Amino acid sequence: MKLLLTGGAGYIGSHTYRLLKAQGHTVKVYDNLSNGHAEAVETDDLIVGSIQHTGTLKTLLETYKPDVVIHFAAFIEVGVSVKKPFEFFANNTEGTLALTKAMLDCGVNKLIFSSTAAVYGYPETTPIRETAKKSPVNPYGTSKLMVEELLESLSQWAGLKYTAIRYFNAAGASEDASIGEAHNPETHLIPLILKTATGERKSISIFGTDFPTPDGTAIRDYIHVDDLARAHMLAADYLADGGKSDVFNCGYSEGYSVREVIEAAKKVTGKDFPVEETERRDGDPAILIADSSKIKQTLGWQPVHNDLEYIIKTAYKWEQNRKY
Ligand code: UDP
Repeated sequence: MKLLLTGGAGYIGSHTYRLLKAQGHTVKVYDNLSNGHAEAVETDDLIVGSIQHTGTLKTLLETYKPDVVIHFAAFIEVGVSVKKPFEFFANNTEGTLALTKAMLDCGVNKLIFSSTAAVYGYPETTPIRETAKKSPVNPYGTSKLMVEELLESLSQWAGLKYTAIRYFNAAGASEDASIGEAHNPETHLIPLILKTATGERKSISIFGTDFPTPDGTAIRDYIHVDDLARAHMLAADYLADGGKSDVFNCGYSEGYSVREVIEAAKKVTGKDFPVEETERRDGDPAILIADSSKIKQTLGWQPVHNDLEYIIKTAYKWEQNRKY
């Protein structure tokens, strides 16, 4: 298959790129490198550009004619989205509108979209099924939900075929630690804990100890990035085989509290480090756990690395040997 990965030099994109290449697919990456890293992909496969540059994108789509586009390129910082909502709607929502328009104009009609558990806001049930109420509590989640609705409408009226994958908490790094998570600034729990273990940071803060959970800290469904990457590959096969447009949750259906993650990291790293208890972060739900039955049934996806210690071990190795 020929695939185009927007944002393919970013965290989840680069792991998906590696997997697709290893399976023998032809893969090109379109990334403006605002958050992606050129080192994460082969130079010959990288085209530097923004999804808002319709002209460049169209030329690429016309000449390359990918069978499937996987669209990772987006702003992801919830905290920034609250302060700069227009930037999120412009890049995430308008950017996807421009991409789908360019695709359909060029006769490319299969798209896999990076969505998020943030579309559920504060969920009323756990684990969360795809049919649960969508009620985002920040512009990031809203920008992604708007895209899902846009894609559904385009699939009904404009011939688009899409799958949206709602990610839970992506974590970990490739087994050989050659690629991994590198956000700037970093806000995610596991890399921040590991930067504390390596001494790069002085302490890790627990955001809220009064959640209605057994130990009072928030529970998340951490999924190894390579399992998430495989979900994209299966989604591409599914669309190429004529599968119908659909939306899938992707997580392990298992949750760990912030305290449990910190304890697991202390065990894996063999390091003790200071932990502070602070106020809740705005917009954090108590529990986010995926019901992943649908992706298992429809795409045949199965977790392989559903082991918190493996996730932390790979992330730690990456953190100690980071190349970017
Ligand atoms: N968290 C924390 N301290 C940190 C960073 C995150 O306690 O320094 C908590 C956060 O409030 C959430 C969980 O860890 O409950 C996972 O946060 P992350 O930002 O990694 O992912 P999110 O669930 O927000 O997508």
